[in-house]
Amino acid sequence: MAVPKRRTSTAKKAKRRTHYKLEAPNMSACPNCGEMKRSHRVCPSCGHYAGKDVVSNEA
Ligand SMILES: [Zn+2]
Repeated sequence: MAVPKRRTSTAKKAKRRTHYKLEAPNMSACPNCGEMKRSHRVCPSCGHYAGKDVVSNEA
């Protein structure tokens, strides 16, 4: 197995990790209540998905 000849320095490691960033999730407006929600997820405020209420037990 190949083994690194030199230990990665703290500076080298830190510079590599400058590319690690948090990204905001893709959001879209809920067609039922208008709240912003993550696409392809059930709306957290009204429980609708694909035009139906999929959270409550009624209907
Ligand atoms: Zn909604």
